[in-house]
Amino acid sequence: MAIKPIVVHPAEVLEQECEPVTVFDRKLSKLLKDMYDTMIELDGVGLAAPQVGVPIQAAVVDIDDHHGTIELINPVIIEKSGSQTGPEGCLSFPGLYGEVERSDFVKVRAQNRKGKPFVIEANGFLARAIQHEIDHLHGILFTSKVKKYIKEEELEELEG
Ligand SMILES: [Zn+2]
Repeated sequence: MAIKPIVVHPAEVLEQECEPVTVFDRKLSKLLKDMYDTMIELDGVGLAAPQVGVPIQAAVVDIDDHHGTIELINPVIIEKSGSQTGPEGCLSFPGLYGEVERSDFVKVRAQNRKGKPFVIEANGFLARAIQHEIDHLHGILFTSKVKKYIKEEELEELEG
């Protein structure tokens, strides 16, 4: 198990367009495993490679539902619909939460760690987490989309 240090805002690596992945080797698998371990250790629901200082188009998402861990390499949103507004946070912005509007449904084409293409459809919170991570791969941070910041106490009330 390897926990990587999280790159906290402000940092150049968080605000740049990430390189597409072209080599699907053991180094990539190791990075994805380390990203997963780091995400779980920090109670996150997603983590993008630039957040551990690697500017490539790779992310992991796990909202603890039946989908399990989703590894997204070179993901592209090919369909989206509806809208949802809800609280969002980010491991690169400790203690910061805000209301963000996202599509309610997304259909995403991506590759797995072996380079095999797949399509995933997601609704609600999973769709939100996926959109947040894909934004990271293009240097887009959730703070650029926050409509209203939320205090941590208010968030706790919200979550019961
Ligand atoms: Zn984030």
